[in-house]
Amino acid sequence: MEHYDAIVIGAGHNGLIAAAYLAQAGKRVAVLERREIIGGATVTEEHFPGYHLSTCSYVCSLLLPEVVRELDLPSYGYDVRPFDPQIFAPQPDGQYFMSFLDAGKTREQLLKFSRHDADAWDAYWDHWERIITSAWPLIMGPPPSLSDLERAFDRPGGQEDLRLLLFGSVADILDRYFESNAIKGALSTGGVIGSNLGPRSPGSAYVKFHHLLGKLNGHRGAWGYVRGGMGAIANAIAGAGRDAGVEILTDAEVTEIETASGGATGVRLADGRRIQADAVISTADPQRTFLQMLDSRQLPGDFVASIERMKRKGSVVKVLLGLSELPDFTALPGTEVGPQHTGGIMICPSIDYVQRAWMDAEAGQPSARPFMDCYIQSATEDGLAPEGKHTLSMFVQYAPYDLADGDWDSRRNEIGDIIIDTFAEYAPNLPNAIEHIAVLGPPDIEATVGITGGNIFHGEITPDQMFNYRPATGQTGYRTPVGRLYLGGSGVWPGGAVFGAPGRNCAREVLAQLDPA
Ligand SMILES: Cc1cc2nc3c(=O)[nH]c(=O)nc-3n(C[C@H](O)[C@H](O)[C@H](O)COP(=O)(O)OP(=O)(O)OC[C@H]3O[C@@H](n4cnc5c(N)ncnc54)[C@H](O)[C@@H]3O)c2cc1C
Repeated sequence: MEHYDAIVIGAGHNGLIAAAYLAQAGKRVAVLERREIIGGATVTEEHFPGYHLSTCSYVCSLLLPEVVRELDLPSYGYDVRPFDPQIFAPQPDGQYFMSFLDAGKTREQLLKFSRHDADAWDAYWDHWERIITSAWPLIMGPPPSLSDLERAFDRPGGQEDLRLLLFGSVADILDRYFESNAIKGALSTGGVIGSNLGPRSPGSAYVKFHHLLGKLNGHRGAWGYVRGGMGAIANAIAGAGRDAGVEILTDAEVTEIETASGGATGVRLADGRRIQADAVISTADPQRTFLQMLDSRQLPGDFVASIERMKRKGSVVKVLLGLSELPDFTALPGTEVGPQHTGGIMICPSIDYVQRAWMDAEAGQPSARPFMDCYIQSATEDGLAPEGKHTLSMFVQYAPYDLADGDWDSRRNEIGDIIIDTFAEYAPNLPNAIEHIAVLGPPDIEATVGITGGNIFHGEITPDQMFNYRPATGQTGYRTPVGRLYLGGSGVWPGGAVFGAPGRNCAREVLAQLDPA
């Protein structure tokens, strides 16, 4: 039987990162991926002839600079560029708000809505900068406890910053600094992205913090396009890993993590193959790992109960479109490429709008008027769409995994129509420009990427499920109750997004255990 130093389950970016670090340290490593392609939620596919769209994740900010440098990802094709403007937020009254990388240009935009808000902009960003400065050392290490957090924020003003971060909403923070609905609406979405929260829900301040952890070209919280789409990240990590000796097997679904005497000994695949290893690292989500690949009787009852309780039902819809022409926005007309097409197009005119959208989903309904975070990467880069045509990626909230009426198969098209109609209120030419459309609800994301419940982060990233509460209370490092079995995907600290921190942190812990000093 084949024997490796380490087996990694899942070729999402975290699995590939963990494998690459282990191989760089001289370990013999195999990555086993159930799909026919690598990348997990970091993948770009030709969804319609000639149209290349990133199926799930679509923009990048958080990917750790350490990972980029240590794996030398630019040599393997990784090329990220912040888009500018960062935000184009058309309003129902025909105005629009834009934010740019350049502070002066953003100030002009802010002044269109409120001098008060223009004057508050820097203080708002200082608020986040000091919180991130306090928290950052914890991100790069094992899951912290609340006491670790209190120590990290033990500085003047730190208690209040921590209170808001843990228990506040994104609206609480925005209301402190701003008065304009347009500005607050545009800034609120980072507090709810991927989450079953409204902007007034406690916990949404933390979700916003998570989305600001990245820096591109020195710009805090800036997001960017990856040349070729997000799949280029997975391909670059895989390239670095392969050069270090990683073997990547696709169409290799793990059905069982084999154990003996309380420790993992290897895995069994769906085709019956068995592979042994000294360490097994799962980057599949916690439910798949502990409730499907293991016999839960091998695990402590309270641990199993925690994993079962973990909030993990998604309410994100991803809509992928092939367009014959660019959207023509009422607020900034034109179908030639302009700033309204090149960055994030946000349909979220106020906090109340986003809150209402969430309340619909809380009642089991798709939002009557959803909020949307949309991107036309083809407006900035050749090769993603046929000549003269465009891609449009829409990340939409909310539509619950469990619909109160009907199911996804019977309502997918209707939900797609609501989304297109909502966007058309801002760009009326959209419906006629659509040549191809695919609508992926939470069950589709679950089926395609293998994320239980379709939650984009392998479980909500609210404070009650972070730190050493992720994936279960008392999580110590990346170890699990089963010896030699580790968890290294988004379901562990510091959580989801194309980030790389779980995979990197986990690899370090595995190496420390395989090669104790
Ligand atoms: C719709 C959507 C939009 C998103 N947008 C963004 C964004 O724009 N920017 C951003 O930073 N983040 C975004 N995210 C979040 C981010 O993509 C994920 O948090 C991250 O990619 C997860 O990476 P991972 O390696 O932890 O897990 P995954 O990418 O989920 O990888 C896990 C892998 O394990 C495999 N697997 C599961 N079970 C088995 C098994 N039994 N045997 C073998 N293999 C198995 C799966 O097939 C999968 O490939 C988005 C996610 C989604 C779903």
